[in-house]
Amino acid sequence: MTTSVRFAPSPTGLLHVGNARAAIVNWLFARSRGGSFMLRLDDTDQARSNAEYAARIEEDLRWLGLGWDRFARQSDRLARYQAAAEALRAKGRLYPAYETEEELARQRALRRARRLPPVYDRSALALGAAERARLEAEGRRPHWRFLLEAGSTAWTDGIRGEVRIDAATVSDPVLIRADGTPLYTFCSVVDDIDFGITDVIRGEDHVTNTLTQIQLFHALGAAPPVFAHFALLVGTDGEALSKREAALSLASLRETGIEPMAVASLIARLGTADPVEPRQTLAELVAGFDLSRFGRAAARFDEAELKHLSARILHGMDFARAAPRLREIGLAAAGEEFWRAVRGNLETMADARHWWRVVAGPLAGVIEAPEYLAQAAALLPPEPWGGDVWREWTAALRERTGRKGRTLFHPLRLALTAREHGPEMHNLLPLIGRERAQARLAGRTA
Ligand code: GLU
Repeated sequence: MTTSVRFAPSPTGLLHVGNARAAIVNWLFARSRGGSFMLRLDDTDQARSNAEYAARIEEDLRWLGLGWDRFARQSDRLARYQAAAEALRAKGRLYPAYETEEELARQRALRRARRLPPVYDRSALALGAAERARLEAEGRRPHWRFLLEAGSTAWTDGIRGEVRIDAATVSDPVLIRADGTPLYTFCSVVDDIDFGITDVIRGEDHVTNTLTQIQLFHALGAAPPVFAHFALLVGTDGEALSKREAALSLASLRETGIEPMAVASLIARLGTADPVEPRQTLAELVAGFDLSRFGRAAARFDEAELKHLSARILHGMDFARAAPRLREIGLAAAGEEFWRAVRGNLETMADARHWWRVVAGPLAGVIEAPEYLAQAAALLPPEPWGGDVWREWTAALRERTGRKGRTLFHPLRLALTAREHGPEMHNLLPLIGRERAQARLAGRTA
């Protein structure tokens, strides 16, 4: 059977590093097995879902380079869920319950006080037809619960190994709300059956859902997929991701200039035994991808590591990949020589703008030693310049002025680039050209 996975976000907010992890891991898993990857929007919670978030999620996935082979939206499939609910009712696995939120909260508190697990006591199962009719006459609409089978459910988790959960520790889950809308737990299983999903890879916050969902697969006459639950991310202090980190949306990372491949390179390896290394393409990550490398320990997410990785990705990026990005930031004229000269000094792609002004102008240099700079201007070799012009020029200047080291080089760098540090002058000077260099050495903007 071909591997088939899905990424199933709820369009109730932006993608952040936590949920993007499920996207990347599923995508790499599919690609590493020649399988297919589906985007499914879990949007049955109409009050919280919206089309704007759905569009932003698609945009973020494209930014990461994660294309999808299939697409579905749960709100398009409501008739299908109704039919599946009917099938469960017919088997006696879906029952109406009438308790209000307050009644349920009171029940849970009572059970806790008696040291019983705070699970639903199934009192709705004991209602006779007459009692149900009376409650409905009062205006109560039932929500519908799935009758869990007693005993424990076990599965071999792709990451956690053997997992076993006793149904007695879990309440019969509500599958249909009183307003008739179905809940994610249920829709997800119907979808996974209909779309032939073979592997469900998601965060360990879903482990308890898996008990319910495995029972649902069986109740609907289907074999459950393989489940794998990765450990959640924690912050650098080892605590659960702080509000700030958890809210680190892909949109905001992108705005601060983080490279998409930095996000993918980090997230594909966090929580595995493998080192995090800067990768230029998703294909390189696919090659080394193995779900069994993920461990059970919480994975540390460090924003500083992400920044560092992002810079390293730029440093190693070849011109073919950089060119469209340079165009996007308005540097369509920037060529390969420019890119090779500056890439090693970029923290973010946007930094290339300054270096483009350095080679193409206009730029006002910083004048530190006007007399020295006048001598330097006079000694600029005539054009055409070869690749060694910087060495020739500064050798002549050393001889003429007796300056050396920092006092020789620093004023030149400041006048020509307006920065203390940057790419090798050896590479920049030929790109700046004689005319522009001369003007800047004389304190003019050029
Ligand atoms: N909509 C669910 C979530 O975002 C999907 C979980 C799953 O992959 O089954 O958590």
